[in-house]
Amino acid sequence: MSPRRIALRITLIYVTFGVLWILFSDSIVASFVSDVETLSKVQTYKGWFYVLLTGVLFFFLTYGSLKYQQTLSERDSLTGLLNRHMFRNHLEQLIKRLGGQNGHCTLVLINLDNFRQVNNTAGQQIGDNILQQVAQSLKEQFSDSALLGRFAGDEFAIAISEDQKIDVFESLQTLQSNLEKLTVPASPDLTVSARIGIATFPEDGSSLKSLVTAATLALEEAKVLGAGQIRVYSHRYGEEAQSRLEMLAELRTAISEEKLSVVYQPQFNLSSREITGVEVLVRWHRERKTSVRPDVFIPLAEQSGLVHPITDFVCKQAIQELKKYDLLGKAKAIPKVSINISARDFDHITGADRFFERFSYLEGDWSTIQLEITETALMENFEQALPLLHQIRDKGIRISIDDFGTGYSSLSVLRKLPVRELKIDRSFTQEITENENDLQLVKAIIAMARSLNIKTLAEGVETTEQALKLKELECEEIQGFLMSPPLNIEQLVEFIERHQP
Ligand code: C2E
Ligand code: MG
Ligand code: MG
Repeated sequence: MSPRRIALRITLIYVTFGVLWILFSDSIVASFVSDVETLSKVQTYKGWFYVLLTGVLFFFLTYGSLKYQQTLSERDSLTGLLNRHMFRNHLEQLIKRLGGQNGHCTLVLINLDNFRQVNNTAGQQIGDNILQQVAQSLKEQFSDSALLGRFAGDEFAIAISEDQKIDVFESLQTLQSNLEKLTVPASPDLTVSARIGIATFPEDGSSLKSLVTAATLALEEAKVLGAGQIRVYSHRYGEEAQSRLEMLAELRTAISEEKLSVVYQPQFNLSSREITGVEVLVRWHRERKTSVRPDVFIPLAEQSGLVHPITDFVCKQAIQELKKYDLLGKAKAIPKVSINISARDFDHITGADRFFERFSYLEGDWSTIQLEITETALMENFEQALPLLHQIRDKGIRISIDDFGTGYSSLSVLRKLPVRELKIDRSFTQEITENENDLQLVKAIIAMARSLNIKTLAEGVETTEQALKLKELECEEIQGFLMSPPLNIEQLVEFIERHQP
């Protein structure tokens, strides 16, 4: 309620009470008292009584409103839990109290998995409802005296002091199984779980700041390990965070000094065996150290805003190298170049012009460029990505969905996307000859793609049996170590010369 409405409400109650008093108090008094002298005395007391009564009324009205305002500023309006600011305030007080008594407390940070996907696929209202159910589950698991907070979005926090005699682990396990039971109406396949980080006062942090940092490091460790993980702080995490920071600093230098490189992995038509294109993969050789795999440093770059310069570099380097050897073009050795882009490349702050600038090294026709975005990244950023995907298609660039089968896209979502290709994830390709479930899944993906007029490419093909099976299933293209590992540009030129009839 706005301050104006609160003031208006108090005034209205006050005026109504005054009007009722004026209208009826005299006639009520007159019905009990008849002689004039007593009536005059009662009138005086009545005046004093009025002042007292309105004073009490005024007290309760203002007290009620101020309490309401305070609750609003302390509590998260959706779940009724403490907001971040108040949670920290209360935790600080708790730490001070426990510090004086040599007491202990546990700080638990919780981050929901898949929540962005829930919001994107089922809508914000259902997302809000899930958050309320999570809050309710927290209230049920932890006694009233535990501090319960919702920080932002899908982040929750709990602080429990040892005198509450709660088995934190057991309660968190129950919480996890309660979360698993939550169903998302529009997407029954989506499950809710949480990654949880735990730190203890005073062992892991003796101040508010150090305790929160320790719990955050434990949570980050749980995030690395995957959905549904619970991690307790260990000093090792601090060291790992330090080494990640060092790696990040080196990566920054490597990007600005253009010390990254790219390699190319050829892709083939399964029937004609001709090269249909190459996938560009970034490489980083750390000075005096071994190389770091892109699936280690790309996520790090994504978290630190370094992904745009990497994508810029990869595009520029690949286009320039392929142009130098005159390989890229519809009638040339490499008809299409596939470039991996990250979910962060779709952030609206980048803007479409900025996005397309990186392809300007390739004059004329952009239909030889294909962009690979992973299914998971796409589903997490669906609303944001959709308009840009259409702009990409309008510029003639093709779109491929990478690691397909690992995310949660549905036929209805795929229909809305201007996609040319689905890349069947290598975890399925590699099991296709061993595991009936994976075989059926690959079959279903190919059938679905065909019904939508989308091409299929299987990645990670390592054996002839896998290639034959894929051919039998009528998958169109393959890529993998069976035909060629990723090659640098000179090796690629050699490979093409050898491969050409
Ligand atoms: P991805 O896009 O799915 O790339 C395919 C990965 O599978 C590559 O790993 C490739 O070397 C590997 N691979 C290819 N054939 C086989 C095979 O037969 N067997 C096995 N076991 N592996 C095979 P790489 O180069 O380590 O890249 C890993 C991931 O890092 C990529 O997965 C991609 O998601 C990401 N990445 C790589 N380069 C870039 C880039 O320039 N930009 C962005 N945003 N991400 C990149
Ligand atoms: Mg890829
Ligand atoms: Mg892939």
